[in-house]
Parts: sequence; structure tokens; C-alpha cells
Amino acid sequence: RMSLPKITTGSKNLDTLLGGGIEVKTITELFGEFGSGKTQICHQLAVNVQLPPEKGGLSKRAIYIDTEGTFRWERIEAMARAIGMNPDEAMENILYVRAVNSDHQMAIAEELKEIIPKENIGLVVVDSITGHFRAEYPGRENLAVRQQKLNRHLHQLMSIAELFDVAVVVTNQVMARPDVFYGDPTVAIGGHVLYHAPGIRVQLKKSRGNRRIARVVDAPHLPESEAVFAITEAGIRD
Ligand code: ADP
Ligand code: MG
Repeated sequence: RMSLPKITTGSKNLDTLLGGGIEVKTITELFGEFGSGKTQICHQLAVNVQLPPEKGGLSKRAIYIDTEGTFRWERIEAMARAIGMNPDEAMENILYVRAVNSDHQMAIAEELKEIIPKENIGLVVVDSITGHFRAEYPGRENLAVRQQKLNRHLHQLMSIAELFDVAVVVTNQVMARPDVFYGDPTVAIGGHVLYHAPGIRVQLKKSRGNRRIARVVDAPHLPESEAVFAITEAGIRD
């Protein structure tokens, strides 16, 4: 595992927690409450994947599948500038796709097989993987079909990660009130979509001010520890 290429998050603490950074050939799930930093980390990775390997990147481009409309080009500009990268180039190297519903999201994932080899892609972001599925199949009565569809989507992404040597990062918003959604593994706190699928699950929590706490869940090859990082104007930092 240690030999797999990795993308730096911008935070040494977070990279160390992850065994060096975000891994290719792997799905990494970022889960946590609103404002915990999931989207900001995705933006940072879309910039950092473009760095040369000696600086923590893959010298490759990113595909950003945005399901919630929270992607901001201004953040890409700011993060690129902060690490001395040309902001226009950084933006050109991110293929932005807005997924309007879950079928569209899955159709885009299907198309990745053609896009990735042509476009020198090293990172696929799905922010968020769960939003459309939850909105379209709400409540516990739809849990089975929702989970079934999500699993199919996850398998699409897993085969892409393996086939094309890309890192796949997905986000999953979970509530801070576990009791409210008890019994729903896609919503409950501590619950995550990569339930029985291989991959790395990272739980994010708010701390004081711009501080955030990350914890890797259920990864036998990584230490059971926490990392503190910050969300700044420049991006993800220690
Ligand atoms: P999530 O996707 O988990 O809901 P985000 O990644 O969107 O959360 O994180 C939102 C937080 O990021 C905000 O609360 C804010 O503190 C921080 N943030 C966003 N933009 C900036 C910025 N330009 N400068 C500093 N912090 C920012
Ligand atoms: Mg978000």
C-alpha cells in the first residue's frame, strides 16, 4: 500500500493520518456534518493533484462532479495562487460537471471510462455522493432501494479507481443527531456509504474556529488516531 502514489491534502497532519495522503486506486470517503470541511478538502485535492510528484501531486488533472452546487472557482484560484500555481492553468485542469439528479450522476460515472484515459485524470471527486440519492429515495421506507442504487454507483467508481489508477474521493454529509436517523446507515452519525466496500473512511468534525478534526475509521493498516487541520483562505493547512 505504501508504494501507491498519493495526493497531499495540504496538511501534514492529515497526510500523516492517511499514511501519506489520498491514495490512487482507492475510494476515500469524507464524511461529517455540514461545515466540517468536506468540500474544501475536495477543492484542495483538485488543485494539488496537478502538482508534480515531488510536491505531493500526480502531475494530472481532476474531474469534479458537483451534486450540490457548492463548487467555487474562486476557491480554486485562491488555493492555486497560495501554492504558486498559475490560477488559470489550475482551473483549466479541473473538469467540472454538475450532476442534476442521481441518474445523471450515474450516467456521468459511466462516461468516466471514456473521459479519464483521454484527459490525463488523476482524481475524481464526487461531492456529495449521497445527496441526490437521499432526496429521491427519502426515509427508512426507501432505504433498501437507495442503498442498492448507491452500491451500484460505488461499484462504478471502484472499477474506475482500479482500472485507471485514479484517486476517487466522495463526500457524505451526516447529521450531528444520531438519534434522529438511527437505523439508517447512510445517514446515522458514524454511518458511511462505503459500508462493506473497500476504501478509506475519514470522519471530519468541527473544532474551534477554523480547526477541524479528522479520524480514519475502520482501516486496519492505518493508526487509530486523530489529526487536527485548519481551513484557511489559502486552503487546507496544519
Ligand atoms: P462541508 O462541505 O463539510 O459542509 P465545507 O468544506 O464547505 O464544509 O467547509 C465550510 C467551511 O470552510 C466554512 O465554515 C468556512 O469556515 C471554511 N471556508 C470556506 N471558504 C473559506 C475561505 N475563503 N477562507 C477561509 N475559510 C473558508
Ligand atoms: Mg460540502
